[in-house]
Amino acid sequence: MATVELSGIRKSFGGVTALDGIDLSIGDGENFAILGPSGSGKSTLLRIIAGLEDQDSGSVSFGGVSQAGIPPHKRDAAIVFQHFALYPHLTALENITLGLRHGLGLPKKEASDRAHEIATRMQVESLLARKPKEMSGGQRQRIALARALARRSGIVLLDEPLSGLDAQLHAVLRLEIASLLRAVGATGINVTHDQLDAMAMADRIAVINAGRIEQVGTPDELYARPATLFVASFVGSPP
Ligand code: ADP
Ligand code: MG
Repeated sequence: MATVELSGIRKSFGGVTALDGIDLSIGDGENFAILGPSGSGKSTLLRIIAGLEDQDSGSVSFGGVSQAGIPPHKRDAAIVFQHFALYPHLTALENITLGLRHGLGLPKKEASDRAHEIATRMQVESLLARKPKEMSGGQRQRIALARALARRSGIVLLDEPLSGLDAQLHAVLRLEIASLLRAVGATGINVTHDQLDAMAMADRIAVINAGRIEQVGTPDELYARPATLFVASFVGSPP
């Protein structure tokens, strides 16, 4: 049974069709990437999976269970937003524990223990007392990731987690995120416009264009046998 099953997802904003019938099956523990240019519907799709946005039609299920009517904090999915979205007035520790206490309802001590555990694993324990403005971009993104992983959700949704980082940090974090997701056994869905990120991080990639999936395959398959000109121009070798 697929961990994440999307069937016929459609979504419009006014006259703009953001998603035009998305079908996807993502397996348990898979590192999956959704790759497409700006405006292709990636963030909208992630927000629908997380429950932050309602689709016009189609269904989302996790492990065979429909997520219709289930609010974001009750879903087995944690999201890492593109621009960190850390609360500026809270420390890193408070940023991590806030959702654990109010979203998951954990007692203070347990929330704090979990935050320290994931921070140790990610080697960011020394940052826990700092506020976002006292951290670099890479440090902030590690804390945003720690906040998502601390929920121990089966599914981790990442919306362009590497954008805005310098090239060297980008390359380091790319590998770090992929190996962390494997280490905690989470199913990762990583949305990106960067083909190298998708190629490096993902077991399988879905290429999305104007709200439709053009092809799903392993990085090797997409590169060697692109199904459309669009895929070829984005990831493949020239046809
Ligand atoms: P991506 O993340 O791939 O850049 P988005 O999912 O953000 O794409 O957007 C897909 C399309 O939907 C774009 O045309 C965008 O302008 C439109 N869109 C997304 N969110 C909204 C919104 N809240 N209101 C109106 N239009 C939106
Ligand atoms: Mg986006």
